[in-house]
Amino acid sequence: HLHFIRKQNDIRHSTTKLFIDGKFVESKSPEWLDIHNPATNEVIGRVPKATHEEMLAAVDSCSRVYHTWSETSILARQQIFLRYQQLIKDNIKELAKLITLEQGKTLADAEGDVFRGLQVVEHTCSITSLMLGETLPSITKDMDTYTYRMPIGVCAGITPFNFPAMIPLWMFPMGMVCGNTYLLKPSERVPGCALMLAKLLQDAGAPDGTLNIIHGQHNAVNFICDHPAIKAISFVGSNQAGEYIYERGSKNGKRVQSNMGAKNHGVVMPDANKENTLNQLVGAAFGAAGQRCMALSTAILVGEARNWLPELVERANGLRVNAGDQPGADVGPLISPQAKERVNSLIQSGVDEGAKVLLDGRNVKVKGYENGNFVGPTIVSNVTPDMKCYKEEIFGPVLVVLEADSLDDAIKIVNKNPYGNGTAIFTTNGAAARKYTHEVDVGQIGVNVPIPVPLPMFSFTGSRASFRGDTNFYGKQGIQFYTQIKTVTSQWKAEDATLKSPAVTMPT
Ligand code: NAD
Repeated sequence: HLHFIRKQNDIRHSTTKLFIDGKFVESKSPEWLDIHNPATNEVIGRVPKATHEEMLAAVDSCSRVYHTWSETSILARQQIFLRYQQLIKDNIKELAKLITLEQGKTLADAEGDVFRGLQVVEHTCSITSLMLGETLPSITKDMDTYTYRMPIGVCAGITPFNFPAMIPLWMFPMGMVCGNTYLLKPSERVPGCALMLAKLLQDAGAPDGTLNIIHGQHNAVNFICDHPAIKAISFVGSNQAGEYIYERGSKNGKRVQSNMGAKNHGVVMPDANKENTLNQLVGAAFGAAGQRCMALSTAILVGEARNWLPELVERANGLRVNAGDQPGADVGPLISPQAKERVNSLIQSGVDEGAKVLLDGRNVKVKGYENGNFVGPTIVSNVTPDMKCYKEEIFGPVLVVLEADSLDDAIKIVNKNPYGNGTAIFTTNGAAARKYTHEVDVGQIGVNVPIPVPLPMFSFTGSRASFRGDTNFYGKQGIQFYTQIKTVTSQWKAEDATLKSPAVTMPT
């Protein structure tokens, strides 16, 4: 499918297409950005900043088609997504290769990226149950009330670089199956995967114009926040962008759901299963090179668990850093040289503020990939909550370690941190687990589960500084976000019950 995305004859000059009204079209933009392979920093293609006319054409296409799409029977929409989930399964390896090329994560992890998005598509196939309304007969004589869940119009999605398949798939399938048309602006750093997903959706039978894709940065984002035809915006990415989009979109009367940054704590109790806990901690801190919003980037070792540090370091040291397409790679490169520099400087800030680097991945060398953006697994101990490396989301393969004397102290640390995306407790004590899940002010909690991202029959419920909006992504809340309720109150009277004079008082 790659030829739909870019011309393959000369990859250095190959241009990423827009997807407008069912066609993969070349942008006329004078402004283009390079796309790099993070393992080598070679330019692998270019992506346009779509022109204003192109963005208008995309949103007009969504608007034109909305009427017929929203009136298409729910069974017909369901059939498209049933075919779509099969096509994604059939193409999972190809999608993963494209993700590894543009984003850098390992092939196995890239397949996981597609798989977790695929599960949302599978979930959309239950739309016939999910979109049911409510009824209450005989609320008064001859009178019934019932509700319909209706689509809301043109919806838009703005996505980050770290999950090129999963996060777009959190968005447009949910929006479209409800009867909305969709405008997607993928991350300009990894734009290929979204186009391949669009091609597969077209192959599954989605009519032209039901999904449009534009590329760009701030201008494209502002366009989405301001265009009056767009009724709702789903955003996933950093706080800087997400808070801005939430405010600008809301001010323009749109619904906005905004999933943002995180600092996720893993609380390790001394009674935990040591072997299991250390492996889970290492996997969740360094997998995807720490570039996951649910990465377990902060450990709090409680009481005697502080003695487990040397073994933690040993396990992290055993991970293999390599290009994502190389066999046996555990930790791939970071997305850009700037990201690498930022991660390295946050590690250094810890050193400067008195923390101890027990494992230092800053100077890691990867044979054959000397120009890649690699940072090896890094463990920083003796960290305190006032340090910069604790306060900022690092978004790299760095585990910062704090210590606490008791579970109560650990809970205090977690609740003082502004973010509320995810957390995990490792323990064999049910009472400790229950206390933790009830007292910790975080939206997604794992008990002996390091990355508790809920499956799509639930919703992604990050909280506090990790989320703005009222309704979360996917699950029942996702359906709620992409629909509005119409409530019908109807009365069918027998003829002899006809009103004989005007009723001027409020009906009771
Ligand atoms: P990012 O905010 O830089 O980019 C996300 C999107 O916003 C992109 O499409 C980009 O073009 C646009 N954008 C970037 N800066 C902008 C600005 N100043 N104004 C307007 N638009 C802007 O995020 P990223 O670096 O691609 O992704 C990493 C971040 O995403 C991390 O903070 C991570 O925690 C977060 N994330 C959160 C979740 C979640 O569900 N909570 C999931 C994945 C990633």
